[in-house]
Parts: sequence; structure tokens; C-alpha cells
Amino acid sequence: MADQDNQFDLVVIGAGPGGYTGAIRAAQLGLKTAIIEKGSTLGGTCLNVGCIPSKALLDSSEHYSMAAHGDFEMHGLKISGFELDLPKMMARKDKIVKDLTNGVQFLMKKNKITVFNGWGTITGKNSVSVAVQGGEKKELQTKNIMIASGSTPIDLPFAKPDGKTIITSTEALALPKVPKHLIVIGGGVIGLELGSVWLRLGAKVTVVEFAPMIAGAGTDQQTAKLLHRSLSKQGMEFMLNTGVTGVKSTGSSVTVSYETREDKKQGTLEGDVVLVAVGRKAFTDKLGLENVGIDKDDRGRVVVDAHLRTKVPNIFAVGDAVVGPMLAHKAEEEGVSVAEFIATGHGHVNYETVPGVIYTWPELASVGMSEEQLKEKGIAYKAGAFPFAANARAKAIGMTDGQVKVLADAQTDRVLGVHILGPRASDMIAEAAVAMEFGASSEDIARSFHAHPTLAEVMREAALAADKRARQS
Ligand code: FAD
Ligand code: NAD
Repeated sequence: MADQDNQFDLVVIGAGPGGYTGAIRAAQLGLKTAIIEKGSTLGGTCLNVGCIPSKALLDSSEHYSMAAHGDFEMHGLKISGFELDLPKMMARKDKIVKDLTNGVQFLMKKNKITVFNGWGTITGKNSVSVAVQGGEKKELQTKNIMIASGSTPIDLPFAKPDGKTIITSTEALALPKVPKHLIVIGGGVIGLELGSVWLRLGAKVTVVEFAPMIAGAGTDQQTAKLLHRSLSKQGMEFMLNTGVTGVKSTGSSVTVSYETREDKKQGTLEGDVVLVAVGRKAFTDKLGLENVGIDKDDRGRVVVDAHLRTKVPNIFAVGDAVVGPMLAHKAEEEGVSVAEFIATGHGHVNYETVPGVIYTWPELASVGMSEEQLKEKGIAYKAGAFPFAANARAKAIGMTDGQVKVLADAQTDRVLGVHILGPRASDMIAEAAVAMEFGASSEDIARSFHAHPTLAEVMREAALAADKRARQS
């Protein structure tokens, strides 16, 4: 029998955004909560090897690229004698990660959440064991369990990562030098973001993508095409509709074999590093699911119902370990929803308004349905688009690439989707998500004040354009 210290209302397995956010909400609602993390720091993929380090490098490399490509000169700033200090750029990124992971540790303490460092295994409906370093095991008793074990990169059978020439996103965040030629397998989010980092720092970057478009099948195609054009202009090379068939490494260089999907043309690419970015899979290994009869689907994800409850009613699962977009904010909302469901009997996530962002330059951000999805569902819609090139603030900043597109129901005018390619689209999309959460019409957006001159006015103009009333900023 566990002692008082090892008895909880909720034990969370995994301290990524889903787990730590869920644990905080549970503690706020009065549940005695513990969290188990096998990694040496809290924060999961997102803080340690995902969202945060990638964005730190994207921001640093953007500055470098602006200096290198004369973007400051248009502001009347002549820059000479600057050079890349890659170790310092990496150290800045590492410091940001350290500050934020320490911040999560602090939040655990502040909310009186007990942290166990070790591997968590479900041993029964109400028990979890933690294998701590040194082989010692702790048995925890708990009324509820939240699985938040996250995801890992998908491997290609013929391109097993060696950490040096064949790498995953984790190594791409910490390369010791700028590759001469980085070959990226997969033109999805990771390929485009980390490809951008190294392109900006001087690498030749070739993206080989199986699909006929970049940015993933669910992305609004017109917006994805605009991004494709922008990245091509920056020098990123794309081989679309092309499958990689083999990767050979000599230890210092790589040869990638490919075949085009339409005319079956075969060829090879020579590079020094290959980034495999063909998606991620749920990490649900050795969790002890079999001990309680919890099912996984054909992609290894924990099967849950609308309340994120597994077959065992007091065991829940959230984030990358379950179905849905693999995004930190989706994991967070699910963690919160589970905590609220346990404490109050109510919990809800609105999957219709999960924004997605690709932090390239320009950024691509969207929420709701794409034009293709609306057509597929047979929903009559109207579209309004407005370019950043006609916006005063974008001109002042000197960043005029892209547009905002608002899609609204043809009859009711309710906003059904917003797709942005442009500067700080990641921040702008929040307005669209809030509008959609409140069931706003495009007229609601158009009639709401947007300070002048701001990038946000492009959203307003696009909403006006949906009613054929666009003016100009
Ligand atoms: P994770 O963050 O993966 O955390 C799971 C944790 O569980 C891990 O720390 C793991 O060690 C631990 N764990 C697993 N099993 C056990 C066990 N048995 N015992 C103890 N601990 C265990 N998303 C965004 O929204 N925005 C972005 O900008 C973004 N950028 C990304 C960039 C990259 C390079 C990558 C790889 C991902 C990015 N993501 C981004 C995706 C985001 O990181 C994930 O969606 C998010 O981390 C999922 O959160 P989670 O809590 O479900 O899992
Ligand atoms: P992804 O699913 O976004 O893209 C993978 C791409 O690889 C797809 O376009 C696919 O067609 C292509 N592909 C698959 N097999 C291939 C092959 N053999 N040859 C060529 N192309 C192939 O996956 P990802 O980029 O690895 O990212 C994984 C997850 O991490 C995503 O689901 C994403 O949600 C999350 N993530 C999010 C962010 C963000 O929110 N900004 C950033 C990074 C990662």
C-alpha cells in the first residue's frame, strides 16, 4: 500500500505542453496532482527540441538573412563586416530553452504538483509505477491518470538517422556548422521551417516532397502556392511529386536516390546532410497500456472518446499521443479539458478553431476550413482577399509579401476559414480564431476597430473584400 505521499487524484505521464498544462489546471481545481517525466528537463518535445528552439533559430537566422541580403539597406542602414557566430546563435537558443524548461519546473512547484523524474508505467486502473534512475521503483496510487506521452519522428526504413549526416529535427536544431547542401525529405512544417533556418544561414537547401504541393495536404492550396513561390524566390529548391527511394551515407556525405511519381524518372542528389522530416508518430511504447486493456489505433495512438477518455473511464490521453493535429496548443487545450472534466464533469475542446502556423518567411497561418475543404463538403462560400502590399504598416516595415484571405458562408456570412501568408501571420491568426470561436461573421470583423496603421488592418480589408467592399490602408 502506498503511503500518503504517493497517493494522488491525478497522475500525469509526460511533461510536455499537454501534460504540464493539464497538471497545472488540475492543481488549480484542487486535485492532488503528480507528473512523471522520463527526460532530464520538463517541457517535452515543444520546449526542448521543438517549437521553442526552432523559433529561436528562425528569428536569429531571419536577422542574419536580412543583414546578408541587403534588407537593412532599404532602411538606409549600411552593414559591413558582419559575420555569423553559429556557436553564439546556438547558445542563445539553448539559454531560451533552459529558461523556459526551468520556468515549467517553477510552475510545478508553485502549483504544488509533485514531479517524479523517471519512466512511468501504468500497472493497474489506479496505479502507476515510476522507474527512477538507479533502478529504484516507486508505486503511485491515483484516482485518475492522464497519458501525455507525446510523439517521436517517423523513420524511413532506408534512412536510419545517424545523428550526423542523416538527421531528424532534433539534430537539425544543433548542427555544428552550416551544411553546404542540406537535402530535406518532406516539405511539411518541419522541412520548411528548419530548411529555412539553414537556407538563411547560407546552405543550399533542396526539399524532396512526395505530394504535388508543399505545406501538407490540408493547407489552403492557393496560400501554400504563395508560400512555395516566396521560398523559391529565397533560393529553396523543391522537387515535388517525388519520392525518395534510398539514402546512402559515407559518414561525411550523402547520396539521396529519388523517383518522380508521374514519369518515373530516377536520379540522385549529393549533399552533406539529409534531414528526414516525413512526419511524427505517437509515442505510446512501454506505457503499460496492455496492463489495463487500453487500445491503440493503427498509427499507435491511444484510442479516446470525445472526452479524451480511454476504454478505462478514469484513464485519459491527450496531445500528440491521440488523434488530431500534432500541435502544442492543441495538446494544452486537451490537457485543460481533461483536468476540468475530472474536477467538474465538464470539459471541451473546439477542434474547429485550432490554428496552424508555419513559421517560415513569410509565415503561413490558418484556421478553419480551406477552399478545397469547403468545396469538398459542398458548402457555398464567399472569399475576400487583401494583399499586404496595399497595407501602410507592411510598407513601413518593408515586408509586403502575401495576403489575408477570409472565407465566409455565402448565406450566413459566418467566418469558416482564414488563411494568411505574411509578416507575423502567427500573431494575426489569433484574431481569426477568436472571431470563429464567437461565431463571428465577416461583417463583424469588418466593423470592428483595427488600429491604423497596423498589419491587422489587412484582416479587416479581407473581411470587407468578402463583401466586395475592400478599401485600402
Ligand atoms: P510532448 O511535448 O512530446 O511531451 C511528451 C513528454 O512525455 C516527453 O517529454 C516525454 O519524454 C514524456 N514521456 C513519454 N513517455 C513517458 C513515460 N512512459 N514516462 C515518463 N515520461 C514519458 N507545435 C506547435 O504548436 N508550434 C510549433 O511551433 C511547433 N514546432 C515544432 C517544431 C519541431 C521541430 C517539432 C518536432 C515539433 C513542433 N511542434 C510545434 C509540435 C509540438 O512540439 C507537439 O505537438 C507538442 O510538443 C505535443 O505535446 P505533448 O504534450 O502531447 O507531447
Ligand atoms: P508533416 O506531416 O508536416 O510533413 C511531412 C511531409 O513529408 C508531408 O508533406 C509528406 O507528404 C512528406 N513525405 C512523407 N514521406 C515522404 C517521402 N518518402 N518522400 C518525400 N516526402 C515524404 O510532418 P513534419 O514536418 O515531420 O512535422 C511533424 C509534426 O510536427 C507535424 O504534424 C506538425 O504538426 C508538427 N510541427 C508543427 C510545427 C508548427 O506548428 N509550426 C512545427 C514543426 C512540427
